[in-house]
Amino acid sequence: MIEEKLQKQLRNAMILVFCIVAVFLIFGGLFSVYMQNTKNEAIKNQIIAEAEEYKTRILKQLDADFQTLYSLSFFIEDSYTTDKKLFAEQLNKANQNNAFLTIVYYDRNGKGIISTTGQEPEIDASLSSLSPEGRRVVEMALEGEVSVSQLFESLISDNSVFVYSVPVYSGDEIVGALAASDHIEIFSDILSGNTVLGGGGYIHMIDSQGNFLIRSSKTVVETDIPSIFDGPYLSDSSREDVMNALQQQKRIFSSFSYEGKSYPFLLEPVGFNDWYLFCVNTGEGLIAHFSTSALVTQITFIAVLLLVILLMLYGYRLLRNYNRGLVRLAYYDSLTGAQNMSRFRQRLVEALRNIEGSVAAVSIRQFHFLNEIFGREKTNQLLCQIKTVAEQHLRKEEFFCRDTEDRFYLFLRETDYQTLRSRLKAFMTDIEQNSEISRTNYQLSLYCGVTVSPCCSNPEETADNLMTHVMFALARAKDSHSNSIWFFDTELHKKEELENYIESHMHQALRDGEFKLFLQPKKNLQSGMLGGAEALVRWNTNNGRMIFPDQFIPLFEHNGFCIKLDLYMMEQACRQIRSWIDQGISPIPISVNQSKLLFFEEDYVEILTEMVKKYNIPPQLITLEILEGLALENVDELNGKIVQLQQEGFRISLDDFGSGFSSLNTLGKLKIDELKLDRDFLFNASNNGNERVRLIMEEIVRMAKRLGISTVAEGVETAEDERLIQMIGCDAGQGYLYSRPVIAADFDDKYMKKSGSRKI
Ligand code: C2E
Ligand code: CA
Ligand code: CA
Repeated sequence: MIEEKLQKQLRNAMILVFCIVAVFLIFGGLFSVYMQNTKNEAIKNQIIAEAEEYKTRILKQLDADFQTLYSLSFFIEDSYTTDKKLFAEQLNKANQNNAFLTIVYYDRNGKGIISTTGQEPEIDASLSSLSPEGRRVVEMALEGEVSVSQLFESLISDNSVFVYSVPVYSGDEIVGALAASDHIEIFSDILSGNTVLGGGGYIHMIDSQGNFLIRSSKTVVETDIPSIFDGPYLSDSSREDVMNALQQQKRIFSSFSYEGKSYPFLLEPVGFNDWYLFCVNTGEGLIAHFSTSALVTQITFIAVLLLVILLMLYGYRLLRNYNRGLVRLAYYDSLTGAQNMSRFRQRLVEALRNIEGSVAAVSIRQFHFLNEIFGREKTNQLLCQIKTVAEQHLRKEEFFCRDTEDRFYLFLRETDYQTLRSRLKAFMTDIEQNSEISRTNYQLSLYCGVTVSPCCSNPEETADNLMTHVMFALARAKDSHSNSIWFFDTELHKKEELENYIESHMHQALRDGEFKLFLQPKKNLQSGMLGGAEALVRWNTNNGRMIFPDQFIPLFEHNGFCIKLDLYMMEQACRQIRSWIDQGISPIPISVNQSKLLFFEEDYVEILTEMVKKYNIPPQLITLEILEGLALENVDELNGKIVQLQQEGFRISLDDFGSGFSSLNTLGKLKIDELKLDRDFLFNASNNGNERVRLIMEEIVRMAKRLGISTVAEGVETAEDERLIQMIGCDAGQGYLYSRPVIAADFDDKYMKKSGSRKI
């Protein structure tokens, strides 16, 4: 039971622990996803922020270039018309001071000057000498618009260039167009820094077709590809998304894979031509720190979780072992390893729910001496051997335990006495003959008490009863040296129970007046009148039970309490006579039974004398009934006491004559006044029609008469009996024919208070 309970608690605890771990895992997972998202979001934000910044720088550069062109346009108009050569030189100078590749000026006639860094200025150059892209922006400027060309291959500088142009005014009139070309690399200075994404990324510039305009030297994809769509780096879906975004000049955030690693990137429109910044995060730098710390957090979390799980498992093992230890302590005997009494009782209750069986208790005779003779170690060994033998002898659904010291209890699935006896005999013989100790000269001997379980409805109660009964049987077996196996006997047990009650309650009963005076009448056979009464004790217990003297007198004679009880009854008899006298009723003699022990009380005679004096009654009204057995020990001493009592006025009657070792010899020696013939005489004489017994009775009565002893026949149950004792010559009769013993008050009502004769 405890084991199951503990297991259940442990299981629940473990479920709880696993739930907690599961919750941890879920939270850990969510946290990890959250961290990942945060990381991605952070990367995204950082890339966007940086792209914005680079975009601004590019636009600023463009803006600065335009400003330069504007400034130039202001002082150009006059000098061109006055001196073209000088103008060309000035233009050349201005070009050298700026970062442009080429600066051109065209008038409205399509004639102009081309100044290219490192070359002589070309005067009167025609518009057609320019590439179409250059020509177009110049034409647009001549029409008053500021514009920038797409990137194109310059015919002049063999470079991939783009051109800006601004109109040149004279007053409100457009007189020409100033244009400057620059190659795209002017931005690479801006883009090629090592600080892109805190060192963890790089930026290319591409156009809306995905073609590279500027390729960063830090690129992870080292293959020389003209477009981002070349090569297998973009997945199909992201390729499509990127294409769409580029067409619509929108910002897009995506990723590509290269050599097994994923690289997030941002495509940010520059806002100038169809140029895009292609910002790639390589996972290093600040973001890498962030990722590393996130990874460290995750690893720490998992490590802590693993540690927690390990600790839990360790705790579980500890707890389980502790529980097992508890169960062992609670249910097992530490010496032999057998189960203990608590477990046995539990199993007994469980077994009794379904099956019938018996409980046997087995012990070793003189166990304490064994300890003394062989020492503790050897006797402990013997107990362990008994455990082993018990295991060998028990069958399915049978079990046993060791209680304390040498006591073992067995539950056997047998109810048949014969089978039980032979199985237990075999078990005990096995131990007696095969133990270590039995190999010495010592004759090991076991004894055993058995009780068979009744069919039961209440297993708990039955188990308790069986355990109590088996103890009684064991105690009996211990006392009996001839019979080593003793079965519990219900009748015997009841008797023992009653005896126990009697002995433990007698003093209190005497104090509380539970012993009652009953009177049985004696009939004077000559007159047919009430001749006297015998005082007989009844024990009315306070729980309403009546106990008869046969059940307690022998015990009281044994434990000496009879002295007290007889004197008490004597006092009750005296009081009764006193009460009759006081009521003016002519008293009758009362016979009081006296136990053997009283006669050996030193001041016995004095006590009785005192008592009759106390109640002021004539001692002649008291007849003391003594048992013949007294005479067997010392007739002279007994006679001495009898004479003393007779001198004090008491009458002496010899009770139960003929029941034991009665002999006419004793009768002759004892100086008694009355002889009570035991009811066995009458029973045998009348019921069996036994002539010989009748003759013996007759002889005894005649002899008593000759000795001056009156005779009373006991056990007069029928009219036939009465006729017989009358014929024989008995003086009085006592028996159920006249009345059973009745409580003194009823006796009074029936015989004493009646006016008129006391005829029975
Ligand atoms: P006892 O002195 O021989 O008393 C007579 C017993 O025979 C009484 O039993 C009485 O009830 C019973 N008896 C009377 N008439 C008949 C009959 O017609 N047929 C049968 N079969 N029995 C009859 P009780 O009262 O149970 O007493 C049993 C014995 O207990 C007495 O035997 C006596 O030895 C002893 N006893 C009773 N009271 C006392 C007492 O106060 N002190 C002592 N020491 N012994 C007592
Ligand atoms: Ca008697
Ligand atoms: Ca008697």
